[in-house]
Amino acid sequence: MKAAVLRSFGRPLEIEERADPVLGEGDILVKLTACGVCHTDLHAVRGDWPLKPRLPLIPGHEGTGSVVAVGPGVSAWRVGDRVGVPWLHSACGSCRHCRRGWGNLCAYQKCTGYSVDGAFAGLVRARADFVVGLPEGLGMVEAAPLMCAGLTTFKGLREMDVEEGEWAAVFGAGGLGHIGIQYALAMGLRVAAVDIAPSRLELARELGAELTIDASAEDPVRRVQRELGGVQGVLMTAVSSTAFRQGLGMLDRHGTMVVLALPPGEFQVPVLDLVLGRKTVRGSIVGTPEDLAEALEVAVRKGVRPRCREEPLEAVNEVLGELEAGTIDGRVVLRVD
Ligand code: NAD
Ligand code: ZN
Ligand code: ZN
Repeated sequence: MKAAVLRSFGRPLEIEERADPVLGEGDILVKLTACGVCHTDLHAVRGDWPLKPRLPLIPGHEGTGSVVAVGPGVSAWRVGDRVGVPWLHSACGSCRHCRRGWGNLCAYQKCTGYSVDGAFAGLVRARADFVVGLPEGLGMVEAAPLMCAGLTTFKGLREMDVEEGEWAAVFGAGGLGHIGIQYALAMGLRVAAVDIAPSRLELARELGAELTIDASAEDPVRRVQRELGGVQGVLMTAVSSTAFRQGLGMLDRHGTMVVLALPPGEFQVPVLDLVLGRKTVRGSIVGTPEDLAEALEVAVRKGVRPRCREEPLEAVNEVLGELEAGTIDGRVVLRVD
């Protein structure tokens, strides 16, 4: 099979011919059609985080395609089924978190395109219990970004403790954010979008954000305080510690900032603001297969659709460069078929 392979951190991926994956018990083999390029792939390729993937690695965790083989013990899938392959490759199933339905917090989890080979390839091996069936009415390309960007924002919004009619600020209107805006509206929230790229704010308006703020041109905290008196929730997708501080600053008392973005390092929390305002800062990491199935169902029912630009697998390094430069509107999806 053809694959884009990371051989050393910070270097371009190499397009190579690789042996097809071998299936074990509980595995399925998926022939990929498409795979979205997530900012997490960029973190992986640069080796941004303390826990680094083992190389060589095939990145990619927003894969969609068809089942072409099933391993021993698999009864849930048949050859020809349309499936999505998300970030959570597997979890132990028996730890405290797994037993409570939080496999995305399992300490023994494996991650597609990080700790096991991912979907920037013609074929990927996946666990039968961790892939999701693609509903009719969702194409392979438009479904791909829902595997991570969609799931993560859907779950993050569910973790936000806000009620219909309240305001949520989606901070960063990129790959995650532009889908987060759509899910927030689908849940009945009012949306303010903050970004530093005018084209992304234009997209946010088109998608239904009522207030859009260019944080490179004005202070987003002042603007939100002036116009809304604060927001009840913040969905933080901007890869910037300045944005984290501003997100907390625009939060109304009793509000929750759900942090999704993963810039390496730390951010400082002003104690008085946090405590006197009874604010919550909450991390959220992707979601379980059950969350993903729900996210897809809501996407179909409410018309949540990622804005995708298609590129061939061979363009992966240029796409990662664009992601780094911050010039992508919506999501780029690699065609791998
Ligand atoms: P992206 O590059 O497509 O989008 C980021 C957006 O933030 C861009 O539109 C950019 O212009 C904007 N931005 C950058 N700096 C800003 C600032 N100071 N103020 C306002 N906006 C700013 O990236 P993405 O694919 O959406 O991923 C975003 C982050 O989320 C990454 O760190 C990624 O690793 C992380 N992520 C986390 C999870 C999770 O489960 N928690 C899942 C997927 C991705
Ligand atoms: Zn991702
Ligand atoms: Zn577990």
